[in-house]
Amino acid sequence: MDPKQRSDLEASTPLAWILLNGMVNENQEILEFDTHRFMIDIYNDNAEDIVGRKSAQVGWSVLAILKVMWILKHARLNVIYALPTKNVVNDFVKPKVNPLIASNPAIVSIVSDDSVSLKKVGDRFVYFKGGYSDREAISISGDLLVIDEYDRMPDMGVVNTFDSRLQASKNPMRWRFSNPSQVGFGVDELYMKSDQRHWLVTCNHCGYEWFMDWEKDGKCHYVDKERKIYACGKCDQEITDESRRMGKWQAKYPDIKRHGYWISQMMAPWVTAERIIEQYEESNIEFFYNFVLGKAYTPTDMIIDRAAILRANAPSNISKIHVSIGVDQDAGGQYYVCMTPQGVFDYGYVDSWDKIEHLKLMYNAVVVCDPNPYSTYPKIMSKKYNDWYMCYFKNIQGLNTIEWKGSVVYADRTRVIDIVANEINNATLLFRQRPYELEKMIEHWANIYRTTVEKPDGKTQTTWLKKDGKQSDYPFALTNARIGLAKVLGGNADLISPEAETDTKTSPHLAGEDTSITTDFSDIMQETWSSIDE
Ligand SMILES: [Zn+2]
Repeated sequence: MDPKQRSDLEASTPLAWILLNGMVNENQEILEFDTHRFMIDIYNDNAEDIVGRKSAQVGWSVLAILKVMWILKHARLNVIYALPTKNVVNDFVKPKVNPLIASNPAIVSIVSDDSVSLKKVGDRFVYFKGGYSDREAISISGDLLVIDEYDRMPDMGVVNTFDSRLQASKNPMRWRFSNPSQVGFGVDELYMKSDQRHWLVTCNHCGYEWFMDWEKDGKCHYVDKERKIYACGKCDQEITDESRRMGKWQAKYPDIKRHGYWISQMMAPWVTAERIIEQYEESNIEFFYNFVLGKAYTPTDMIIDRAAILRANAPSNISKIHVSIGVDQDAGGQYYVCMTPQGVFDYGYVDSWDKIEHLKLMYNAVVVCDPNPYSTYPKIMSKKYNDWYMCYFKNIQGLNTIEWKGSVVYADRTRVIDIVANEINNATLLFRQRPYELEKMIEHWANIYRTTVEKPDGKTQTTWLKKDGKQSDYPFALTNARIGLAKVLGGNADLISPEAETDTKTSPHLAGEDTSITTDFSDIMQETWSSIDE
């Protein structure tokens, strides 16, 4: 090969550049693409928008750094490389980038201006930046933004600032990758909105082709926990290491421009089924999903089960002042929940609105009701009483959860149920009845769960779903009562949290004397999200 041929080849793809120069990783091992065959397409992918939802230990950092070096030299772009760290130099550049450069003469020879957080190749730069502060993003600009460990970035506002640094570029490019976290968040959300590449593996017994996954679902190849092998989704015979190695990438939605790769350890031919099972037994489920399977995972505290409700059960004869009543309805009648800032003291099912009105008058309560499917009576009542509201769900932009408009209150369904669920899980919303009186409440909560759904336009949305054909009226009546409680406490604009006492089991919620409770909503959301993160 003459020098011209060689340099043309090197400029053609990162992979050619790496192989022709016999490049090594930071441990001085020659990079090979026999066992890492699944990395070849990713090395050579020059799409503008690439997402990696990945497990640990597949060699992704090496890929990112080497591709960046190739981009500087051959595509001649400026790169911003952002990470979720306060000290990008000590955490990333010194331990990972510098050794990789130093080990490879072909890279050493092109890096001309080697400062610690800035590398120069020819007249192009890569800036390594931490994700903790907007200041990191000021006065730099780039063509390619790399965000490493996207789901661990502490502040999405800073991520957006980095993104704005691509504005001057003619062809802005984005690579975002991470071990995933929650379902529908971070890199999982990005992957769901990508072309969703899967590594397809062909069974050498029956020829069936599908991707690898953990559970047997009748379709995908799976990990057989008893035989400790990878098994075919169709014939249940063993999927060999060689079959896994010889897989191929296939996009679920080839028309979508963003390229998304899902990398799991089950694709790596050097990781045995036994090792996968071992990691399942050794680690917690969230870690196992995120770091071994490369899949997002939503912990079970986003369902409200029997244990959660019983933890929030503190039987007590609380005084019936500052009462809010929430109502959900079906064809046969009305489900109601009565609560005060100290908790729920009554709930039930009645066969007429007269009985709800009776409760309202007895407790001098605020009422928030579902006006669907039968709105005649709710409309009459909300005209008759100025503290009787009809609740409509809608997506509310910005940080508000609820909006009061005359006799109507609009609520962001997912957010208000999140808050109620979070308060039950934290036992800040209490049930004051005897435990045996809570069976119906427990049963209805067991029939809804929080998940991520794909809408017809392909976008994803987090939502609370009802199980098919099951009843979940009390959670909605309780949510309405909780919204009414915000009114009781003087919250005109938003859902306001009752003040929590330190001893939550005896007196968790106290309305202030002038009912102007000022806990602001961002605190509640902070709590909600941090409990989701845990
Ligand atoms: Zn088979």
